[in-house]
Amino acid sequence: MVTTKRYTLPPLPYAYNALEPYISAEIMQLHHQKHHQGYVNGANAALEKLEKFRKGEAQIDIRAVLRDLSFHLNGHILHSIFWPNMAPPGKGGGKPGGEIADLINKFFGSFEKFKEEFSQAAKNVEGVGWAILVYEPLEEQLLILQIEKHNLMHAADAQVLLALDVWEHAYYLQYKNDRGSYVDNWWNVVNWDDVERRLQKALNGQIALKL
Ligand code: MN
Repeated sequence: MVTTKRYTLPPLPYAYNALEPYISAEIMQLHHQKHHQGYVNGANAALEKLEKFRKGEAQIDIRAVLRDLSFHLNGHILHSIFWPNMAPPGKGGGKPGGEIADLINKFFGSFEKFKEEFSQAAKNVEGVGWAILVYEPLEEQLLILQIEKHNLMHAADAQVLLALDVWEHAYYLQYKNDRGSYVDNWWNVVNWDDVERRLQKALNGQIALKL
């Protein structure tokens, strides 16, 4: 018997127009229905090939299939973090409270320095990719990292607390090539309650991906 599970597209925790004026409904709908769905489909297609291989029904180019799986699965996971990482303006934005605020102050000096470092990371990703805030459990500290495309996740065991998508599909319809303005405006919709929830899971050694 061979068991291979499949991934599904999670619904957004708010309406497509909920993040306006900072992120348009048109971007959100395309981003969720086309791009995120594409990563889900891509991961499942790779799993389909692996399943056939495991059953002895097909030969595969394992390097290509695993590259596809890593790319699409990371795309699926990062978007599944990105959506609840945001909340409508008013509920989102501002400064964090809770333990995440304490740890940001401890490791970055102040919220302003953290925001500056994270924004710089996002604006300077080479090509397309992500800026992420992670909890790195080896030395139990917060780090900001960049991901190029979806493939490179350098801190293997680190848990993502906050993710910012800087692929062009995340902003181009509204901001054209001005990634910097998109990053600056994005702070108005950060959902700090969700970041705190992910931090508490990480501190307790639990996976925070499932809500
Ligand atoms: Mn994206």
